[in-house]
Amino acid sequence: MRILLACVLALACARWAHADPDRPYEAFAPLSLPTPNEVRLGSGAPGPAYWQQRVDYRIDATLDADAQRLSATMEVAYHNNSPHTLNFLWIQLEQNLFKPDSIGTRTRTGGGPMRAMDDDFDGGYDIPSIRTGTTELKFTVYDTLARVELPRAIKPGERFKFQLDFAFDMPPYLRRMGAEDVEQGRIFEYAQWFPHVCNYDDVHGWNTLPYAGSGEFYTNFGNYEVHITVPRTYLVAGSGVLQNPREVLTPLQRQRLEEARKSRETVMIRTAEEVGDPASRPAGQGPLTWKFKGENIRTFAWAASDAFIWNACGVVVKDLNGNDKIVLCQSLYPVEATAWAPTVEDGGSTQYVAHSVEFYSDFLYPYPYPIMTNVNGPEGGMEYPMIVFCGGRTRSPLFVTDHEVGHTWFPMIVNTDERRHAWMDEGFTTFIGMHSLAAFRGEAVNPGRARQQTMQLARGRSQPIAVFPDRNLPGLLGSLQYRKTALGLHLLREVVLGPERFDYAFREYVRRWAFKSPQPADFFRTMEDATGADLAWFFRQWFLEDGTLDQALEVAFDESDESESTPRATVTVRSLGRQVMPATVVLQFDDGTIDRREFPVEAWATTRERSFRIDLQGRTLRRAVVDPDELLPDADRANNRWVAPAPTAVESPQDAAPSP
Ligand SMILES: [Zn+2]
Repeated sequence: MRILLACVLALACARWAHADPDRPYEAFAPLSLPTPNEVRLGSGAPGPAYWQQRVDYRIDATLDADAQRLSATMEVAYHNNSPHTLNFLWIQLEQNLFKPDSIGTRTRTGGGPMRAMDDDFDGGYDIPSIRTGTTELKFTVYDTLARVELPRAIKPGERFKFQLDFAFDMPPYLRRMGAEDVEQGRIFEYAQWFPHVCNYDDVHGWNTLPYAGSGEFYTNFGNYEVHITVPRTYLVAGSGVLQNPREVLTPLQRQRLEEARKSRETVMIRTAEEVGDPASRPAGQGPLTWKFKGENIRTFAWAASDAFIWNACGVVVKDLNGNDKIVLCQSLYPVEATAWAPTVEDGGSTQYVAHSVEFYSDFLYPYPYPIMTNVNGPEGGMEYPMIVFCGGRTRSPLFVTDHEVGHTWFPMIVNTDERRHAWMDEGFTTFIGMHSLAAFRGEAVNPGRARQQTMQLARGRSQPIAVFPDRNLPGLLGSLQYRKTALGLHLLREVVLGPERFDYAFREYVRRWAFKSPQPADFFRTMEDATGADLAWFFRQWFLEDGTLDQALEVAFDESDESESTPRATVTVRSLGRQVMPATVVLQFDDGTIDRREFPVEAWATTRERSFRIDLQGRTLRRAVVDPDELLPDADRANNRWVAPAPTAVESPQDAAPSP
């Protein structure tokens, strides 16, 4: 125990030791960012030469529910919008993660849902051929990637179509998808299930980081037409609008759906009592094919089950032109998910979805799609365009639902590279989620958990936020990329810039990069451009380094005699850690008066020590505190306050009020 404590202290001190009081200006040095060009401007906006590739998919998939095997044929239309000639394509084969010899299988560290991974399961794709028309294309598989050789190069502006067949068995463990037997049937969730073309961009060329399990994805926008054939007893929901309701729904269900679109209250489409009743499915024999279309989306996910209860409501969202449009919000869940039902006190899953769609549309950018579906199945929490998978059956899914729906804005609209920069989707979504949940509950925004975890990072093992998620030290993904990032944005808003200045710039970032792909530098530059503030110090210390913050305070009196006749005192504030932040000092006097002083962060650019003198005017100083509201993740609060020696034994420092 003592050895452990010594190690923790040594690590903490190592990071603190980087604060060199003789070189305070280093914290304010410019960031070294990529040279701006006409694709990505110095302002952080996409430039006149901005381009991105587009890939459209047509997939026909058939689920063998008994064998838990999916077979599909697929046609891909690749649009080369780049000014470059492409001699080959890279495709992602994410199901190959489930091969016993995959990088992900062999490097997992035992945490999370992969813990139950069965090494004997021989998963991954069967891909008999890839072809264009009748010409076979040579392809070579490397773990979760394949390089496809082309009969001739794809020139700028050209479109290239190719076809392939694929099949795979559902893994017997969970990794963003899975199958689960429930009371009234079986639930399938499919994500990262079809081979897709890697993103070719202006920053890295082909983005070919393998799928190792943690890093999510970085994909192209495109249009999807997906046909899914399932047993007749199954309901299906996916990343698109159902095209053939007359074939797969009963007349009663179609009528209820129409009612739901016009109702802000939740309407049942299929009740618990109707699950398993043949009358709740169209009459006839054999499987049914559900046809979906999703436009301008970055991937496609879907879920199917014979056990789904289904309800929905409609919300009105103003689009970018100020016109009203209806978004259908819906939930599909098994009977044991009692906390999802519309009968729970705060409305249940569909009302949470509706709130999130409304809130974020207003807070950031209009929800761009016609539907949003929440599915309860084996996956605990994953986001896709127009559909999210959320866990929890008897515990409220409010938090996870709001988070996953919030991902519509990061990374479904602002299409960031999740395999490299998890903080740009997870951290941003955690940050906006603090606001959405506070609004839903009618409470103030509370970053308490994010602050607590950030302070734990300061005391123990840590690493910079800007690390690829597959290279996170075990257990740090949640505290770093999610919560420390969220706290950083919170402090930037509340402590550094103020809400109005921050919100304008943050919305500008979303508007500039909606349906495009920003890099971290584009975010940093946009925030500086639209706030008019030099924020290099903040972005470096918060995202690129892992230093700690430690503000400290001391009080000295002019006379050695600290009696009531003491005329003047000197208050000294220091910034000891590698991080700097604005400093707030509160002084409390015996006559009840309070003196509050604010130091902008620039106070630390030329010195790490600031003093000011106060005229006591006959008062006695009782208490002085830096960071009185405990907003900052200060690594050592013990040096934040000075308390006068108690004249009697009545008052102890702990009893003193924390702030005015
Ligand atoms: Zn997330």
